[in-house]
Order: sequence, then C-alpha cells, then structure tokens
Amino acid sequence: TEHDGALLEVRDLAVVFDGFRAIDGIDFTVQHGELRFLIGPNGAGKTTLIDVITGLTKPAAGSVRFEGIDLVGRKEHEIVRMGVGRTFQTSVVFEKLTVVENLDLAASFRRPLWSLARRRRGVSDAVAAAMEITGLDALAGRPAGVLSHGQRQWLEIGMLIAQRPRLLLLDEPVAGMSADERSRTGLLLTEIAKDHTVIVIEHDMEFLRRYASVVTVLHEGKVLTEGSVDEVRADPHVQEVYLGR
Ligand code: ADP
Repeated sequence: TEHDGALLEVRDLAVVFDGFRAIDGIDFTVQHGELRFLIGPNGAGKTTLIDVITGLTKPAAGSVRFEGIDLVGRKEHEIVRMGVGRTFQTSVVFEKLTVVENLDLAASFRRPLWSLARRRRGVSDAVAAAMEITGLDALAGRPAGVLSHGQRQWLEIGMLIAQRPRLLLLDEPVAGMSADERSRTGLLLTEIAKDHTVIVIEHDMEFLRRYASVVTVLHEGKVLTEGSVDEVRADPHVQEVYLGR
C-alpha cells in the first residue's frame, strides 16, 4: 500500500474541551523519514495533538491522514495496528519481567497468530531489531526493575519499535537524563529515523540544536512557526512566547 504524499497530514484540526479550544485550527505535515520536533510552552496543545493522532482524543473538526487514510474516529488499538506508536510520560515497563520479555510482550500485541510457533525458536526479528538498535542486547536477561532511568527510557523506545510502527511519537524522551544519556538518546533517535518517521515533544534547546532538522512551534492551540532550530529561535513571536527560555 504505497502512498505518494506525506506520511502524516493534519488539516484544520480543532479540539474543544468544555468550550475551550485546546487546538484551534492546526495544519501539520510530516514527511516520511523525518525526525520532527514539537515544542511550545505549557498548554500549547502538544500532548493534545499527539492524543488526537493516536485516537485518545476526538477532534471537534479536521482530519488526520496517515498514509492517506483518515485516523479520526478509529480506535486506539486500530491506530497502533496501522503503524502508529507512542510513549507516555508514565512508564509502561513491567519491572519483574526481563528486558527481552518486555520487548517480546510489546511485540506480541501486534504479532499475528500464525507466527506464534516461531516464538519457540527464540526471539522474533522485531525483538532482535529492537534490542540491537537500542543497545540493550547486553541487558536482555536483566529484570527491567534494575535498569537505570536512561536504560528504562531506551527499553520503552525499544518496546515501541518491537511493535513495528512506521510513525513513532515520543513525549520528552530525554527528561531526567544525564548529558551522556542525552547524547546516546540523540544518536538512537537519529538511527531510528533512518527506517521510521519520528515526532518528538522536547523542550531541551541544546538537544534540539544538535538533533532537530525541523521544529514546529505550537502556541495556544495554533502553529506559531516552523523551521530549523535557528530559524524558530530567531523568530520574534517565539522569543515573545518563551521569554527567557
Ligand atoms: P501541552 O502538552 O502543550 O502542555 P496540552 O495539550 O496538554 O498542552 O493542553 C492544551 C490545553 O488543553 C491546556 O490549556 C490544557 O489545560 C487543556 N486540556 C488538555 N486536556 C484537557 C482535558 N482533558 N480537559 C480539559 N482541558 C484539557
């Protein structure tokens, strides 16, 4: 099912909570293979936008086309199966299960029944790929509960990859990480973006400067501006909105 246009095309999107327009007419387009960053002050509508894309929140108006197919009105699990995965700020890792068991569990949510027999022969290709890309191979047999904060974040990203999404939505993946863990995560996201399209909510400007090609700035439910990190930082509207950030 090859689709010629953009991977994701959000048009005229509006989300209303009790009369309050949390998203007020957003157009947002992401091409195949992009590593796109989404920034904006608290309450700008970043999480709500991700919630609409993943089927958690229903918009009052607009469309969300993924590979040309409108996601609006589809259920969350259906959207996962179509190839859209996300992380949440709350952890989804099972602490008593090992790293590989967590990855296997994540993969099994999408695994068709005919492939169950393969499990007995070892880890699936999806799990092996997720371990390799996240560098978690060496920790495969460890319970997830003993992982460091950074390793746990990488495991969550690995669990997403094990579900074989084409679009990954990550919510502040470097929050609470050391400088070294941030660099590793930046390289990981760059590597993931070779085979996937990635949208990242992130505030860390230093991180953005190193890894972002295109940044979309949201403010009060609208797209304020879009461009390179330097372009958006130089924008007087952005400076006004961020005052000192
Ligand atoms: P961001 O992620 O950019 O900080 P959000 O998308 O979380 O912003 O929120 C956008 C606006 O919508 C905020 O004003 C927030 O208070 C409001 N909002 C978000 N979710 C709900 C909800 N379930 N009910 C009412 N208001 C909400």
